[in-house]
Amino acid sequence: MALSPEQQLRAYVEYFRDLGVYEMYCRETSQLAMPERWRELLLQPVSAAEKADAPQVRTAARVPVPPPRSGVQASLLRTSPPPPAAVEPARSYFEAGLPPELAAPMPKPVSFDALAPLPAEIVPAAQRAAALEAVREEIGDCTRCPLAYAGRHKIVFADGDPNATLMFVGEGPGADEDAQGLPFVGKAGQLLNNMIAAMGLKREEVYIANIVKCRPPGNRTPEFAEASTCSQFLVKQIDIVRPKVIVALGSTAATYLLGVRQSLSSLRGRWHSTRGAKLAVTYHPAFLLRDPRQKAEAWKDLQMVMAEMGLKAPAKKS
Ligand code: URA
Repeated sequence: MALSPEQQLRAYVEYFRDLGVYEMYCRETSQLAMPERWRELLLQPVSAAEKADAPQVRTAARVPVPPPRSGVQASLLRTSPPPPAAVEPARSYFEAGLPPELAAPMPKPVSFDALAPLPAEIVPAAQRAAALEAVREEIGDCTRCPLAYAGRHKIVFADGDPNATLMFVGEGPGADEDAQGLPFVGKAGQLLNNMIAAMGLKREEVYIANIVKCRPPGNRTPEFAEASTCSQFLVKQIDIVRPKVIVALGSTAATYLLGVRQSLSSLRGRWHSTRGAKLAVTYHPAFLLRDPRQKAEAWKDLQMVMAEMGLKAPAKKS
């Protein structure tokens, strides 16, 4: 059943309430693709009586709000009186992520192994494409986390072979991926394609997915709540594909897959495991584009993977 804009907004606000966030703000000149009705509601202050029953929690920076309009459902949001004029306007949550006092410290991520038991039965190869399609259908037009309301165009599920023995996991879609609905199709994707080719494989022979399936605005790092909400689907994808080896591209992928917060350098160069697969950590291709000197180090990581999988680099064309 389709939800009305008010119901969707209520669900969105309740999502934050479950996280302990009771006060919200919205830039009056926001560039967000947010229905006008929502923006009206988000900018609506609540009465003192309504505010009194809200639990007192840490507060975010606020922006001035316009005077109440009659007939609008003010109870949906908790806002506060305007601050003094000298206060800097806050960047919205969508642009900046959670304010530091709410975002830090990040809770300890739960490893993919601890999220759910490994299914005893392996999905037969011939049924994997359909099983993955069922996961995609379960995701639907997802509104489970705030990224659904942050200008997303397409949900980026995955790309590649449902029977792949090698899987790459990135962080989250960028602008190109959001437009096309496919992972790693922008500049970082071209480099990933080259990395795959250097391993003697074709992109269509591997499986590629991300920690979050919706683009974080401005390509910021996904928030803990966003990554944690989305992880359940990547767990299912891994359990269906059952790759022999997973390569975590960058620290966000490594952090959530392994449930550890460690530097990338301390995770590289050795084997980890997740969901019955061996897991290697390497640099994210976007990082390699910024710092190409690290490509040699990334190649060492890929060679470790190739040795494990019995892959040989293709002969150089003369
Ligand atoms: N970066 C990622 O982490 N994933 C993509 O799909 C694209 C860029």
